[in-house]
Amino acid sequence: MSETTETIFSKIIRREIPADIVYEDDLALAFKDVNPQAPVHILVIPKKPIPKLTDAESQDDALLGHLLLTVKRVAEQAGLTNGYRLVINTGPDGGQTVYHLHLHILGGRQMTWPPG
Ligand code: 5GP
Repeated sequence: MSETTETIFSKIIRREIPADIVYEDDLALAFKDVNPQAPVHILVIPKKPIPKLTDAESQDDALLGHLLLTVKRVAEQAGLTNGYRLVINTGPDGGQTVYHLHLHILGGRQMTWPPG
């Protein structure tokens, strides 16, 4: 898939397409994945359209920290008291398909290792 800053996630942020949004603040949005890979599968994204983790810059350090704390908050809200997996697919070899940075929260079942 091509890398552009405008993705389907930009449309979700602007409410141009529907999503099951579970959390929002000035910097971040969290919504349920449309194709869940676990009983709980939530995506946490920055509102800033950083295509992928390797495009983040030093000026994004507070934003990246905010995303991790948002994961913690959203996971608690989702009742994932026994843990969860956090995934950031990055670039073609990482299996990334949507080029707007996103953190997958996967939980509600026992995860296996190694991942595919
Ligand atoms: P990636 O493979 O890039 O790490 O993950 C992209 C994720 O976005 C996939 O898990 C996919 O199911 C999810 N996704 C793609 N399009 C949409 C959409 O329009 N709405 C929602 N809620 N999730 C989407």
